[in-house]
Amino acid sequence: MNMVIPPWPQPSVPVAGSESRFPVRRIYCVGRNYAEHARELGGNPEREPPFFFMKPAEAILVGERMDYPPRTADLQHEIELVVALARGGRDIPAGAALDCVFGYAVGLDMTRRDLQAELKAKGRSWEMGKAFDQSAPVSPIVPAARCGHPRRGAIDLKVKSRSRQHGDLADMIWPVAEIIANLSGYVTLLPGDLIFTGTPAGVGPVQRGDLLEGEIEGVGRLELTIA
Ligand code: MN
Repeated sequence: MNMVIPPWPQPSVPVAGSESRFPVRRIYCVGRNYAEHARELGGNPEREPPFFFMKPAEAILVGERMDYPPRTADLQHEIELVVALARGGRDIPAGAALDCVFGYAVGLDMTRRDLQAELKAKGRSWEMGKAFDQSAPVSPIVPAARCGHPRRGAIDLKVKSRSRQHGDLADMIWPVAEIIANLSGYVTLLPGDLIFTGTPAGVGPVQRGDLLEGEIEGVGRLELTIA
């Protein structure tokens, strides 16, 4: 097929312990999936249905350096368990949802918090606070065949060697299977989709030069320097 402009490379993420890569189709993110974090943002920690937003596949950042983005003075970190789908579907029952999962990674839902707050206050879409270049740093993906389907385990982020975020996957309001089931009621999920599953309490700003070290027990590590 003749393309009228040159097609761009497929965004992809390395698969841990292999030469292969996982092609990224779409990035879905869950808002407020840990009660403590919902409280710190002034929200409702009750078990309301999950809500979703997106980032473009090109927002994926593989590597250890993120450029401080434009139009913000309050870039914030949100460490999250990332789910990579090998299979999709519509109205997937929670009991079958984990069969769709290829593997898991450590991700950062980087957020221009000042911009998000301003847009939220005006009742506008958050998109420019969330879906910008390099806003989705992600570690190599560990196949579920190797790490299983983690239901508990520490999820931690340090900035400049000091603990900032600490939680446990067991404290997710909506666990992975239920997120997939719920999201697949809104859209037909597809192979290559990634889901960022929400962040525990302790989100905060980062500055140029900061080293971020994220770790999820049983899944892996992610290191990032803000340039
Ligand atoms: Mn988030």
